[in-house]
Amino acid sequence: MENGAGSGGPAAAWNFVPNDTLLGLTALSVRGVLGMVKAGIVEDEGAGARRVVPLGHGDPSAFPCFRTAPEAVDAVAGVLRSGEHNSYASCVGLEPARRSIAQYLSRDLPYELSANDVYLTSGCTQAIEIICSVLARPGANILLPRPGYMFYEARSVFNGMEARYFNLLPDKGWEVDLDDLQALADKNTVAMVIVNPGNPCGNVYTYEHLAKIAETTRKLGIFVIADEVYAHLTFGEKKFVPMGVFGSVVPVLTLGSISKRWVVPGWRLGWIVTNDPNGVFQRMKVVDSIKSYLDISSDPTTFVQGAIPQLIENTKEEFFDKTIEILRETVDICWEKLKGISCITCPSKPEGSMFVMVKLDLSCLQDIKDDMDFCCRLAKEELVVVLPGCAVGYKNWLRITFAIGPSSLEDGLDRLKSFCLRHSKSQK
Ligand SMILES: *Cc1c(COP(=O)(O)O)cnc(C)c1O
Repeated sequence: MENGAGSGGPAAAWNFVPNDTLLGLTALSVRGVLGMVKAGIVEDEGAGARRVVPLGHGDPSAFPCFRTAPEAVDAVAGVLRSGEHNSYASCVGLEPARRSIAQYLSRDLPYELSANDVYLTSGCTQAIEIICSVLARPGANILLPRPGYMFYEARSVFNGMEARYFNLLPDKGWEVDLDDLQALADKNTVAMVIVNPGNPCGNVYTYEHLAKIAETTRKLGIFVIADEVYAHLTFGEKKFVPMGVFGSVVPVLTLGSISKRWVVPGWRLGWIVTNDPNGVFQRMKVVDSIKSYLDISSDPTTFVQGAIPQLIENTKEEFFDKTIEILRETVDICWEKLKGISCITCPSKPEGSMFVMVKLDLSCLQDIKDDMDFCCRLAKEELVVVLPGCAVGYKNWLRITFAIGPSSLEDGLDRLKSFCLRHSKSQK
């Protein structure tokens, strides 16, 4: 045997140099940080062994009580059997799917969206990726909420756009600090991001607060990116109001997906919607930029696109009501159990999404360095996975999801409590 085909002499020094920006982004991703937290877990084995309780990321789809609507499954199965959606789709997405999403979102708006306002993406994740690429140019900056969903920073920084943080106010239901926002904005600020209902805070914004955001951003000349991936997942006093309601005050890019409301994050179908009755996005070439980006990127699976009209039309209200009922039950469990843990405080009960932010009081814990240390040791000792606040830009806080089966949630929070007691300074 030859010693490899054409070994061609000594190897050159390879020209590749790793991209340090890229390597540094792991610290900005929920997946990256959860990977570090979970690294120390050794799973118990055998019958009756303790299982890992996943309070870290928000994906309840594995729990039977969060199974998606049968109508959604039928829609996809029917489309697959028809054999009619095995081709590539157009870059902007299939027309019937775009139209049905336009109609679905228009129910909550004072004007009608058209199919041409909707661009289909591979989940809300790709929608964020696209928008951050479209808005970036050398010198540009974007205003992001703190605490926040760090994927925006990762995608902005990777595209060479500066990320600046405005604070959310924990004592005011995590509303946007509008003074902060105005102080941060300058001529190079292109947009701000709001996540409503909120990840990681569980906030739901009122009409009045959104109106103030619209007025402020209009004055500053910056677009609003409204991440509404948790749209309608509200279980408190406040109803969900889409930012698109203010589309004629300020142009709004609404991002969403079926991942959360239909509990199918693996189906990878999301959207970018231009809420802009005045045609600013058209004039400013935002629309052309989105289309150009879609020309050079991959599309969501065609058969899932094909299933969208039926999925939206056929899903019964009972399915949505049931999901909200369970979330209401689990948020109550979470709230009550957290109140009984002395080194943790929670500024407000979540009213939407699947998360709550809680503050760690390190001064009443011994031998715990910070939020990361807390989460790593909690995972190792109790097999409970919680996201450290550093992964959402809020050091020494924790983000906990309550969107899991109620009995697992109780079990997980009881273990969190025993962990805190065990590490507490005042031994009882
Ligand atoms: C889950 C989530 C996304 C991503 O949604 P996918 O449709 O699963 O890609 C985007 N933004 C926020 C705030 C999220 O929580």
